[in-house]
Amino acid sequence: MSSVPASQGAAKPLSRIADIVGAQNLLIDEATLRQYARDRLPFGIFKHRSGGLPGTTPVAVARPASEDEVAALLEASAAEGFRVIPFGLGSGVLGGTIPLGGEVMLDLTRLDKLVSIDEVNGLATVQAGMNGWDFETALNAAGWTSGHLPQSIKISTVGGWAACRGGGQASSRYGKIEDIVVGLKAVLPDGRKLEVRPVARRSVGPSLIDLFVGSEGTLGVITELTLRIFRKPEVEQGVVLAFPTVEAALSMARRVMQAELRPQVVRIYDEIESRDRTKGIALFSEKPILAILVFSGSRNTAEAEERDALAIAEQEGGTIADDAPLRHWREVRYESYSAKWQAAGYFMDTIEVCCPWSTLPDLYEKARAAALAIRADMHFGAHWSHVYAEGACQYMTIRLPPMPDAEGLVLHGKLWDAIQSVTLACGGSIAHHHGAGVFRNPWMRDELGTGLDVLQAIKDALDPDNRLNPGKLGLRPAPGTVAVGHR
Ligand SMILES: Cc1cc2nc3c(=O)[nH]c(=O)nc-3n(C[C@H](O)[C@H](O)[C@H](O)COP(=O)(O)OP(=O)(O)OC[C@H]3O[C@@H](n4cnc5c(N)ncnc54)[C@H](O)[C@@H]3O)c2cc1C
Repeated sequence: MSSVPASQGAAKPLSRIADIVGAQNLLIDEATLRQYARDRLPFGIFKHRSGGLPGTTPVAVARPASEDEVAALLEASAAEGFRVIPFGLGSGVLGGTIPLGGEVMLDLTRLDKLVSIDEVNGLATVQAGMNGWDFETALNAAGWTSGHLPQSIKISTVGGWAACRGGGQASSRYGKIEDIVVGLKAVLPDGRKLEVRPVARRSVGPSLIDLFVGSEGTLGVITELTLRIFRKPEVEQGVVLAFPTVEAALSMARRVMQAELRPQVVRIYDEIESRDRTKGIALFSEKPILAILVFSGSRNTAEAEERDALAIAEQEGGTIADDAPLRHWREVRYESYSAKWQAAGYFMDTIEVCCPWSTLPDLYEKARAAALAIRADMHFGAHWSHVYAEGACQYMTIRLPPMPDAEGLVLHGKLWDAIQSVTLACGGSIAHHHGAGVFRNPWMRDELGTGLDVLQAIKDALDPDNRLNPGKLGLRPAPGTVAVGHR
């Protein structure tokens, strides 16, 4: 931590920021600034391990503690002309918080209170910077769950979940974050406060909540959220199944969702991802595809749903297997493997997309073939863990062996290009729950078409000077900023 230097060009904005948050909550030392210069974007990690940075360093990190301080900071940003990036815990994997031109980071983790649990209406109000795990733990202690359980729950904020339009591991039962947010408070780029009061539903024009859920810090700073909460289920019972093919397992998941069953967890792994998880279980040498289903709620409901799902699974060739893979998944569900591979020099990344059921098997085969055509000895694996009546998320792990950056980054760029293009050709969406950040900019026009102009028009109306997280979500970059990514 440092005090504000009087000598540099940014002295006036910095001293104004210090007046708002207190000098101890304005960080400008080099080590801290480098720390906030990247998130978990793998491309940024590759750059960083070679001594570089994906974008620029921020000029400062401000740590406001209230909605009023956030509003004052955004007013100051308008008056002094500095740019701002909202920052949760930096677990984003698409570079949403990467500074492209020396912005001021707004670290929101001092807004970390659980404001209230409303047991009558089944709602919890929480400040946006609260750590996800702390939030869930507090709810559990009161007999509730948020139902939003991302793998990154321990390293992300509740505000970050909403800003990225994320999805948790129990999404088939409880919904994605957009199904869970019932109300919010946000500060607009000019410092005005906006509140969408939490009511079950309203019919007064397009949903303003949806303007901010998924806006990735480009349209406003979310300071508080009211989320639907769920009573902790009486039981959570799981079953492990072995299927002969990916197609059969996907068909089971489609039919389960179209039968209006609500499994808490559905996870299907392709053959390569199944192999490690099923070692020593003989059944999988005959039926190599692993599927995990978990049902929850009252004992009666869970048992009835499991019975119906198992009948469908049997018709699709599924056989109940030893539950070791489920026990292992429960132990590691909030861990990440990427850092280990990345530290060892591998070019490891994950790409999650969404596709209709009708083209999903095609997407899998084409994405896999395209990846292996780029580099035959790479790892390409996929799993499906967010399923709907209409389609599913395909989550792909790509891992290139260690090689010089000059080669590895080119291949990494080709893999992204190939997989995003194949997804669009299959009628899917380029992103299911990680967001767009800055890294998906090249594909945003193909994804949204005229919709990107609509998004830009909204951005221009709310933030005419382009001061709030510019250059993300495929939106216009600010002058003098850098580009991040392969093209
Ligand atoms: C190992 C690992 C596993 C992951 N698993 C999942 C998963 O299961 N499901 C999932 O959905 N995601 C997952 N992610 C991605 C990431 O954790 C989520 O996107 C998460 O919601 C980001 O939260 P954060 O608080 O870290 O946000 P940050 O990374 O700090 O910010 C992300 C974006 O949101 C904006 N933002 C953050 N807070 C606010 C706010 N209060 N107001 C306005 N804008 C804001 C930022 O400007 C930025 O654009 C995973 C990431 C990792 C590294």
